[in-house]
Amino acid sequence: MAFFNKIKEGLKKTRSSIAAGITNIVNSFTKIDEDLFDELEEILVMSDIGVNTAGEICDLLRKRIKETGTTDPNAIKDLMKEIIIGMLGEDQSLCLETKPSVVLVIGVNGVGKTTTIGKLSAQLKSEGKKVVLGAADTFRAAAIDQLGIWAERTGVTMVKSVEGTDPASVVFDTIASAKARSADVIICDTAGRLHNKKNLMEELAKINRVIKRELPDASVETLLVLDATTGQNAVNQAKEFSNVTDITGIVLTKLDGTAKGGIIIPIKNELHIPVKYVGVGESVDDLQPFNAKEFTDGIFDLDE
Ligand code: GDP
Ligand code: GDP
Ligand code: MG
Repeated sequence: MAFFNKIKEGLKKTRSSIAAGITNIVNSFTKIDEDLFDELEEILVMSDIGVNTAGEICDLLRKRIKETGTTDPNAIKDLMKEIIIGMLGEDQSLCLETKPSVVLVIGVNGVGKTTTIGKLSAQLKSEGKKVVLGAADTFRAAAIDQLGIWAERTGVTMVKSVEGTDPASVVFDTIASAKARSADVIICDTAGRLHNKKNLMEELAKINRVIKRELPDASVETLLVLDATTGQNAVNQAKEFSNVTDITGIVLTKLDGTAKGGIIIPIKNELHIPVKYVGVGESVDDLQPFNAKEFTDGIFDLDE
């Protein structure tokens, strides 16, 4: 499936909530008034855009309508698209400038960290990069095995230890292996235990100290993985994780099968963290670089 079709397919449920809702409103009003804005705001809030960002979008919309002298409700959709594309800002890709570079993947259990690492490894490998994985989610043996399956499937090396090993020591070993093999990218899986913030903070700080000491000049990406199906809860997770570590990008998984894709907007608007990838399925080619324009088209443009 072509890139845009896959995003569009993934956003189907989100689109049927946002686009259909807005089309309904626009069709039932003959002029633009406060009642129309109230209904629009309600649709946005219901589509997991959140109260604050929904309010901001409507304020910007009022302003644009005034500036452009728009009176036709049918013009609203295009104006909203422009506003949202502006809010999402420039698309940002991974910064992997050094050899090796490091990608640390964090997030709570079940969001799709390990799967995302598998997909990303395959992509980087297909670009000719040598990837080494670090199984630093040592909390459960099954987590290590699961990453091992992805390593095998994508043909990349994985460094692991036994369950319960200090994750920072696995990261240390992974870096040593990557140096020995002249690898391009190191990707480390982690166990995200938000319920114990102090431990999580200490664990991530320790991992970061090891990276800084062993690779002082390396590009380091800390990717927070969030599950789109959890809606506003994902926004809360992003807030909590950004309190314990510096996040350089977000991967929003499971956009397929959810109507809550709208949470990309408050994540960017309220947390100022760029969404770098979206997950649109469970197979290896279901990870897409985030593109604001295509995302916005995907949630607004009803199927013909
Ligand atoms: P982790 O605990 O964060 O490492 O999460 P996993 O990578 O083990 O993923 C948890 C479940 O979510 C698995 O069943 C994955 O196949 C599934 N999953 C991950 N990403 C996606 C996605 O983009 N779409 C769908 N539908 N499922 C996904
Ligand atoms: P919990 O209270 O059940 O969540 O687990 P504990 O904090 O009592 O930890 C039990 C054991 O597992 C300890 O020996 C820890 O070193 C180890 N452990 C706990 N959480 C993690 C984790 O997130 N990562 C790793 N690598 N080890 C952990
Ligand atoms: Mg995992």
